[in-house]
Amino acid sequence: MRVALFGADGKVGAALRPVLEGAGHEVHGIEIGDPAEIAGLDAAVDFTTPDAAPGNVRAALEQGVSCVVGTTGWDPAPLGTLAEERGLRLFVAPNFAIGAVLMMRFAAEAARWMPHAEIVELHADTKKDAPSGTAKATAALMGGDPPIHSVRLPGLVAHQEVILGGQGQTLTIRHDTTARDAFAPGVLLALEKLGELPTGLTVGLEALL
Ligand code: NAP
Repeated sequence: MRVALFGADGKVGAALRPVLEGAGHEVHGIEIGDPAEIAGLDAAVDFTTPDAAPGNVRAALEQGVSCVVGTTGWDPAPLGTLAEERGLRLFVAPNFAIGAVLMMRFAAEAARWMPHAEIVELHADTKKDAPSGTAKATAALMGGDPPIHSVRLPGLVAHQEVILGGQGQTLTIRHDTTARDAFAPGVLLALEKLGELPTGLTVGLEALL
């Protein structure tokens, strides 16, 4: 596919680009200040910032290009409506790492039996939003509104612990992203399945598995 990559020089974008190219995609990197002229491309991928993503996605949809978005900390619902109106797809996932999706699923299962739980999410100090999109999605799946604690420190990539407490016992479910290429297989899968999705907004890697 011919793919626009918004945020190509960012930490995730730089890890993603060689994997996309290695899988045979033609990547058009777009950074701040570059004209977002992408009409005719097959898809746009966005890993930028919560402030930039809505404008990038709108520009892509207005040029007839469906989107795969990893940027967290913004509400994609209004642009899902625009995608629907244009017969296009907007796929957004708070976490493209398969292990994180499994961690969320296991946490939801555990919460059925152990209702007292808290979430600790840990990310690099450069992450702009808190709590993380993954933590919010996990809490929603668990029901009961578990408290979320956010840690931002240099040296971290993306990590989350779900700690459940019961009488005389605790259960900890933990996922660690140790390198940003962890997100690449999920993005490749989203590009592969994009055309098969219903038009409008689809949220979460689990929708593709
Ligand atoms: P990052 O290193 O700060 O990279 C963001 C990049 O986007 C930077 O190169 C930035 O340029 C660029 N940018 C900012 N505004 C732009 C615009 N209008 N058009 C094009 N590019 C623009 O951040 P990151 O760690 O790669 O993370 C990016 C986003 O993905 C964050 O929201 C993060 O939370 C999210 N994320 C999601 C997942 C997932 O699985 N869903 C995984 C990891 C990260 P400058 O440096 O010049 O500002």
